[in-house]
Amino acid sequence: MSTIYNFSAGPAMLPKEVLLQAKEEMLDWQGSGMCVMEMSHRGKEFMSIAAKAEADLREVLAVPDNYKVLFLQGGASSQFSMVPLNLLAGKTSADYINTGAWSKKAIAEAKRFCDVNIAASTEDNKFTSAPDQSDLSLDSNAAYLHYTPNETIGGVEFNYIPESGDVPLVADMSSTILSRPIDVSKFGVIYAGAQKNIGPAGLTIVIVRDDLIGKASDKAPSMFDYKVHADSGSMNNTPPTYGWYLAGLVFQWIKDKGGLSAVAEINKRKADKLYAAIDNSGFYANPVAIANRSWMNVPFTLANAELDKLFLEKAKEAGLITLKGHRSVGGMRASIYNAMPEEGVDALISFMKDFQQNNA
Ligand SMILES: *Cc1c(COP(=O)(O)O)cnc(C)c1O
Repeated sequence: MSTIYNFSAGPAMLPKEVLLQAKEEMLDWQGSGMCVMEMSHRGKEFMSIAAKAEADLREVLAVPDNYKVLFLQGGASSQFSMVPLNLLAGKTSADYINTGAWSKKAIAEAKRFCDVNIAASTEDNKFTSAPDQSDLSLDSNAAYLHYTPNETIGGVEFNYIPESGDVPLVADMSSTILSRPIDVSKFGVIYAGAQKNIGPAGLTIVIVRDDLIGKASDKAPSMFDYKVHADSGSMNNTPPTYGWYLAGLVFQWIKDKGGLSAVAEINKRKADKLYAAIDNSGFYANPVAIANRSWMNVPFTLANAELDKLFLEKAKEAGLITLKGHRSVGGMRASIYNAMPEEGVDALISFMKDFQQNNA
C-alpha cells in the first residue's frame, strides 16, 4: 500500500496506530468474542470502554470536576440549537462573534430562539482575521457569548480566549479541540463534532459546566436537554458506541504522545513550516492575518487559478489527496489535524515547490 496523505477538512485522517488497533480488535474485543459495534451499550464491556474514554479525555484536556462530558449524536450542528435551548434560561438574547461560515450557521440557528447581538464581525475583511477583545461589544445581560475559536473553512483562529465576565462563554471547537492545551474553566460550554480531531463522524462531544445544566426550555425536546444526557451518562438512548470507542483510542494515542503540550508543539511546527513555504514562494498565498492563522486548516491559492485543476491532479498522483478548497473560498485547503503526520506536511511542501518550479 503506497502512503497516502489525506488533507480532508472532515471527516479527516485518523491516527494510523488507532486504525491498526481497531482492526486488531475488530472481530474480538479483548477476548469478549464481540466486535464493539455488537455490544450492548449497557453491558460491562462497553461501560468500561465508555468510562475509560471519558477519564482519558478528562485527563488530556484537564477538565475540572464541575463539568460534565457528554457523548452525543447530532453533530456540532445540533449544538447550534441545543445551546440556546439550554442556556437562554428565560433570557431573551445572546451574543455571537461572527468570524465566518460556521459562526454564521450558529447565528442563523440561534435566531430561531432569541435575539442575537453580533458582538463583532469580520465580514468586512472577508473573514480574514479574528476580532480583538477590545473590538467586542458585549451585553452583560446576554445569556451567553458564542464564538468559533477556529473557522474551518476560512482557516481563521482566535489566538486568545474572549473574556466575557459573568456571561458564560460557549465555543464551537469542532476543528481545534485537542490541538493544544486549553483552560476549560474559562468556558461554560465547549462542543465539537468528532470527525476532525477526535474520531469518526456521528459522535459529538459536549463539555458543559454543572450550573448550566437543568435550565432547558420546557419546549426543548428531551434529546436536546443537557440534563437528560448528563443524568444518564449519555445513555438516555443508544449512544454512538463505535465512535465513542474510537474516540477513546484517540485519547489514549494523545496520552501516549505525551499529552496535549507535546501534540501542540508538533502542530505548531507543522503549521509554521507550511505557512513559511506559502509566504516565501511568491506563488502561493494565504489571506489570513498572521496572528489569526489556523494551525489546523490552511487555505491557500495559486498565483494562477487556471493551474488549480492541474495542481490537484498532480498532488493526487503524489499521494496528496483532498486538497481542494471549500467551494465558497476556492483554491486549496490543507487540513493538518493531529492525525496528519509531520511527514505528510513535509511531502506537501516538497510537492508545492516542485509544482511551482514546473509550472510558474
Ligand atoms: C465541521 C464543523 C461543524 C459541523 O459539524 P457537524 O458535526 O457536521 O454538524 C461545525 N462547526 C465547525 C467549526 C466545524 O468545523
